[in-house]
Amino acid sequence: MTAKIIDGKAIAADLRAEVARQVAKLKADHGITPGLAVVLVGEDPASEVYVRNKNRSTVEAGMKSVEHKLDASTSEEDLLALIAKLNADPEIHGILVQLPLPDHLNEEAVINALDPAKDVDGFHISNVGLLGTGQKSMVPCTPLGCLMMLRAQHGSLSGMNAVVIGRSNIVGKPMFNLLLGDSCTVTVAHSRTKDLPAVCRGADIVVAAVGRPEMVKGDWIKPGATVIDVGINRIPAPEKGEGKSRIVGDCDFESCAQVAGAITPVPGGVGPMTIACLLANTLTACCRANNLPEPEGLTA
Ligand code: NAD
Repeated sequence: MTAKIIDGKAIAADLRAEVARQVAKLKADHGITPGLAVVLVGEDPASEVYVRNKNRSTVEAGMKSVEHKLDASTSEEDLLALIAKLNADPEIHGILVQLPLPDHLNEEAVINALDPAKDVDGFHISNVGLLGTGQKSMVPCTPLGCLMMLRAQHGSLSGMNAVVIGRSNIVGKPMFNLLLGDSCTVTVAHSRTKDLPAVCRGADIVVAAVGRPEMVKGDWIKPGATVIDVGINRIPAPEKGEGKSRIVGDCDFESCAQVAGAITPVPGGVGPMTIACLLANTLTACCRANNLPEPEGLTA
């Protein structure tokens, strides 16, 4: 069997177009423009690229984008003061603090200082609790993107066996809650899981969020299963020239694609969905803040 490639780029483009359409409607009908503030502390090059992409995409969707670049030595007090200001700003509906923060800043304290209604990353403890109890919340962007791709592939996920590999707060755990919310039977595997290949072989859906290049092999996959590869790993690529590198996922694409029914590529799978879901979350937050109905299909 050769797997269908789940085209994350195309699904994300459709989602972004739908967000842009809804933003235009919100402006025309109510004179409201959704606003996203992105806060970056320090000069981590990867974070700078992410923030630039987020800002560009926000503007392309017709929303207001505000970037706050703070010095790496910024005190927690100053950062919390900025967050308080953004929490109180009626033109800002979403706030994203780019992680990781420099070591002297307490990430939990900073994230939990956000107004949960503006927490478009869904990392605030209130949103974590709301998602865990099946209530309306802001849903973390990467697992939300994975869920949307799975729904696009299968329609209903009810009764499917899902294995999530990885138990991080930003991917693995919220993914567990989302799949459970869609009535899957969910196993969360991690670094201490015994016989991970056998655990995976029982799954109709495998979501790999590990951070280990090409760890999941084709003979771990049940024939016809759907594989969602969240991993982004840079590995040396001497074939492209000296010192060159390339990006691979947590799944060995070649062997998994021989067995799976459908698989996301890396790049071009989960990655594009993450930013599209950030835009969707910002629009959702804006609608909620203005007591307007939320457009359908933008959240879990
Ligand atoms: P993390 O390091 O916080 O968590 C990794 C998890 O993998 C841990 O829970 C750990 O128990 C588990 N793990 C480690 N080794 C294992 C092993 N040998 N067997 C089974 N489980 C093992 O990572 P994260 O933040 O959840 O990210 C995971 C991957 O997803 C990374 O490659 C990251 O770059 C990528 N990521 C991609 C996006 C995106 O937009 N596409 C977003 C977030 C993270």
